[in-house]
Amino acid sequence: MLNLVLFGPPGAGKGTQSNLLIEKYNLVHLSTGDILRGEIAAGTALGMKAKTLMDRGDLVPDEVVIGMISSKLDNNSNSNGFIFDGFPRTSAQAEALDNLLDEKGTSISAMLSLKVEDAELIRRLLSRGEKSGRADDQDESIIANRINEYNTKTAPLKEYYSAQNKLSEIKGNGTVEDIAEKLNNMIDTL
Ligand code: AMP
Repeated sequence: MLNLVLFGPPGAGKGTQSNLLIEKYNLVHLSTGDILRGEIAAGTALGMKAKTLMDRGDLVPDEVVIGMISSKLDNNSNSNGFIFDGFPRTSAQAEALDNLLDEKGTSISAMLSLKVEDAELIRRLLSRGEKSGRADDQDESIIANRINEYNTKTAPLKEYYSAQNKLSEIKGNGTVEDIAEKLNNMIDTL
């Protein structure tokens, strides 16, 4: 199986690149943000609880997102592999993911980390917010909180994957096609 963690701050281009990678490598896209927004749209109890945190730009509790990923892995057991987008975001999530994959006799193949300057992230998120109406993309103080959550809780996971020799860092500037080519080249060496 090819199991990729597509990593980077909010606005780095993880969703856009995931959509290209799932086509090319025939993978299942698991975005915890998308799954949570689906729960909100469906008006579930889980969605309602998550919404309060997401609207502030705070992380949702580990056990909630780990449970969601666990059931998605079970439901797609015959796939070629997975792209994890926006997950893991904390050390507890990274450890849980390793354990879940281990139980299925597989593991993470690589973490592909997209690097983009803060000013560019803010510009991209505000522009996305205008088009999508996503509340957490429309307010600079919420965006700043999300970037702060990333820097304090999520960015340290690069160390976690680097210690397993699985970290590849890629500059996330340039056109969508340029970045896709860099990701493809990296994946083809795996
Ligand atoms: P995203 O679509 O990945 O930018 O996520 C949007 C929001 O969903 C985040 O700001 C968090 O509130 C929540 N979220 C998504 N994925 C996770 C995760 N793995 N752990 C905790 N919270 C998450």
